[in-house]
Amino acid sequence: MEKEKIFVTKALLPSYEAYCEMLRDIWDSHWLTNNGKYHKELTERLEEYLEVPYLTLLCNGHMSLELAIQALGLRGEVITTPFTFASTTHAIARSGLTPVFCDINYRDYTIDVTQIEKMITEKTTAILPVHVYGSVCDVEAIEEIAKKHGLKVLYDAAHAFGVSYKGKGVGMYGDASVFSFHATKVFNTIEGGAVVTKNKEMAEKLRYLRNFGIQSEEEIAYIGANAKMNEFQAAMGLCNLQQINSAIRARGQVIRHYRERLYGQKGIVLLQQQKEASSNYAYMPVLFTEEFGADRDEIYSRLKEEGIYSRKYFYPLLNTLECYKGVARSGETPVAEYVSRHILTLPVDPSLTEEQIDRICEQILKCRMEAK
Ligand SMILES: *Cc1c(COP(=O)(O)O)cnc(C)c1O
Repeated sequence: MEKEKIFVTKALLPSYEAYCEMLRDIWDSHWLTNNGKYHKELTERLEEYLEVPYLTLLCNGHMSLELAIQALGLRGEVITTPFTFASTTHAIARSGLTPVFCDINYRDYTIDVTQIEKMITEKTTAILPVHVYGSVCDVEAIEEIAKKHGLKVLYDAAHAFGVSYKGKGVGMYGDASVFSFHATKVFNTIEGGAVVTKNKEMAEKLRYLRNFGIQSEEEIAYIGANAKMNEFQAAMGLCNLQQINSAIRARGQVIRHYRERLYGQKGIVLLQQQKEASSNYAYMPVLFTEEFGADRDEIYSRLKEEGIYSRKYFYPLLNTLECYKGVARSGETPVAEYVSRHILTLPVDPSLTEEQIDRICEQILKCRMEAK
């Protein structure tokens, strides 16, 4: 019998009927993109949901990073980490800036704030930390360093949709934050993203930048791009937003079940729930130390043979890539190197059943027995 396949994630979708219902208005109005009705509605809904004053919808998370970098006027060097999705660093390099790689901490895999200051030079203009796996960076320490050295802070919050920290939306920290609404993320608009900020002027600028910098019929004020979200994407967002709380709750159940199965096993390190942050249960990273017996790659392959598709997020580390030779600068990153070689993210989606999770954990623990 063919083994049931389990993928690392499954896109959140509304009912077919609910989405089709939304399409009727698009057909009737012939308004497909450029600040349509759904686009406006989704902007307002997301500002409420994410508890931020200004949100600019964009075509995807990556362009949101690039336009946020442009809107903030960054130049020179930008300090970030190599333990992230390539988009973070690509956005810096594609803007003609130099990514500077700082190590991560072993606690939650976000930027190691004790290492940031030694990476600062007179060319540094910003810090671009990542709320990796939805864990909130040490925002207070980062703010203090940024203030002291006159740096901007742009957060890559692609993993942190709906997360709050000390009772505030995570997007309220730093000069701006970027979210991704890609199909594989907790909340999706098929492809999509947004920049959030407390700064009204920045939000206005972003709204021009996403549409070629056009300010009015006869005025082009900025060298902008085409990075607009269309009505079909916004409609998907509005539908998905209606079920996002239940989807996050269901993810929470999945993560709790994994934790019950894997907690306390020798050689297994689970991501800790942060004390003052809420979780969106976006990912289930598991770190396998030498004590586990089997190594990460063996476990990955074993699961794949069983039709279970996990991911080596984030491997390879970005500071080891050939395309960054001579483009980026890197400090010593021993923690990132270790974590990158030992971590595996397991399948998580709201519909994953306890039986499926049991099957995944059983296979993982079996690897250890066989290694002995
Ligand atoms: C997904 C992701 C992005 C890019 O978002 P897209 O919407 O796919 O362009 C950027 N940074 C991180 C950390 C991501 O996971």
